Amino acid sequence: MTETRTIAESRNFIEEAIDKDLIDGVYDHVATRFPPEPNGYLHIGHAKSILLNYGLAKAYHGTFNLRFDDTNPTKEKSEFVEAIKADVEWLGADFEDRLYLASDYFDIMYEKAVLLIKKGLAYVCDLSADEIREYRGTLTEPGRNSPYRTRSVEENLKLFEEMKNGVYADGSKVLRAKIDMASPNINMRDPILYRIAHLSHQNTGDKWCLYPMYDFAHPIEDAVEGITHSICTLEFEDHRPLYDWVVKNTEWPMPPRQIEFAKLYLTNVVTGKRYIKRLVDQGIVDGWDDPRLVTIAALRRRGFTPESIQLFVETVGVSKANSSVDYAQLEYCIREDLKLKRPRMMAILDPIKLVIDNYPEGQIEYLDAENNLENPELGSRSLPFGRELYIERDDFMEEPIPKYKRLYPGNEVRLMHAYFVRAVSCEKDADGNVTVVHATYDPETKAGSGFTGRKVKGTIHWVEATSAYHAEVRLYENLIDESKGVYNEDGSLNLNPNSLTIVPDAVMEPALKEAKGGDSFQFVRNGFFCKDPKFAAEGRAVFGRIVTLKSSFKLPQK
Ligand code: ATP
Ligand code: MG
Repeated sequence: MTETRTIAESRNFIEEAIDKDLIDGVYDHVATRFPPEPNGYLHIGHAKSILLNYGLAKAYHGTFNLRFDDTNPTKEKSEFVEAIKADVEWLGADFEDRLYLASDYFDIMYEKAVLLIKKGLAYVCDLSADEIREYRGTLTEPGRNSPYRTRSVEENLKLFEEMKNGVYADGSKVLRAKIDMASPNINMRDPILYRIAHLSHQNTGDKWCLYPMYDFAHPIEDAVEGITHSICTLEFEDHRPLYDWVVKNTEWPMPPRQIEFAKLYLTNVVTGKRYIKRLVDQGIVDGWDDPRLVTIAALRRRGFTPESIQLFVETVGVSKANSSVDYAQLEYCIREDLKLKRPRMMAILDPIKLVIDNYPEGQIEYLDAENNLENPELGSRSLPFGRELYIERDDFMEEPIPKYKRLYPGNEVRLMHAYFVRAVSCEKDADGNVTVVHATYDPETKAGSGFTGRKVKGTIHWVEATSAYHAEVRLYENLIDESKGVYNEDGSLNLNPNSLTIVPDAVMEPALKEAKGGDSFQFVRNGFFCKDPKFAAEGRAVFGRIVTLKSSFKLPQK
């Protein structure tokens, strides 16, 4: 009994609704879809919708369709179609051959509109856009009937056909549903079903000058494909009565059912195609895949994995209430995913030299370094060690602050995978910046030698100087710092001036020279990094930080 209860409790409201439909025999299977409009790149919010729909199809042994909602001929581009397909595939939502275009249903939609006219449920209206708005009424006042509402079925059929045949100019006539101008739901006040637009469409060319409105097209698209559960976001809740009206009156053997959930928003970043597009158009970011964005293309370029996005979507869950998820939750998920999967390598972002005065000049030895102490399966690598090394500037202090455990004159630390070294002195430039630290090493203390003579408190990472690989590193912060407000007074986004820091000459262990675009690593103490695949394709070696190693973030208790 306890077990059934836990299972039931862990089901979200969408699964509960589907369970009920299956038990009641409303449907005997589950068919879902993801219906993007190809007018931009997909972002993390879409990823949630994709994985939700795909996950339900999988869980119920049903089907999952990818359908381009390409009914609006003005804004859509084939560039976006290709990018969206790639993103959905990368996320792991396998649509197999179930790829559809809403524009392929234009004929069916037209026939269904004719059916509505014949049933006396739709009419051609000559009111202008302004007049239609005025007649519609407000939230507190009912609307008024259009004077064209009483046109005969015959006249409506003739006019609608003429609209299709290009007889009328854009904006001169529309087809409207005949529902109820006094409905408390404004969406039900004789909504427009079709508008005239003499525009070419990327799929249907010049075949049509009559295009369906979303509220009419979408339910028909779902019904044609035999979708059972049409899952959409909360802003369509008020449109559901119209969705139901359309599927009922256009007569389908198995009408689909719409279920709404809350959109995913993330703090400190820009979600929403419109806003992302503006940043791209203004050149504030370098394209739709700029690693500071949360488009799927950007996340992939940054080094996020499909598994980390899946984990994120799972931990966020589905809800009926709009809210913002902390960006740190996404960071937590990529850290969790990568920590056992990736080798822990050494790279120095702000290098100074460490010279080991008692190590033989010109000698290089190779040390065995385990790739990931928590995951022996990742094996080990051979690491060059010599008299001159690079270390991080902040791993040495000439005059240590209290509790400082790293290098300072007289103090001994462990060089990771190597020996103990004791700092002796340092050299400085004219400005007083440390350039070289001198130290001595103790050959007895070699890592893996079983040395137990004494212990040291600090361990630092390093890179052998003569074999070091030099490459650019990029450090990212969120595009927006919400603590200072999302918008400026003039309505523009309050951008974080530190969202990109370029480190032109970081030094790394030589093995990183072999990295390919898209390969990712943990750089000891500095975070997880990915070799930027876009720059790699241009022949540039740039390692971008995916995420730092530490966070105070804790997964919220559900
Ligand atoms: P945007 O508001 O970013 O422009 P959209 O809703 O216009 O997005 P569509 O291509 O029309 O984008 O959406 C495809 C699907 O993705 C829809 O089912 C939509 O509800 C869903 N979706 C869009 N944004 C989010 C989000 N932030 N969270 C969850 N689902 C989303
Ligand atoms: Mg949209």
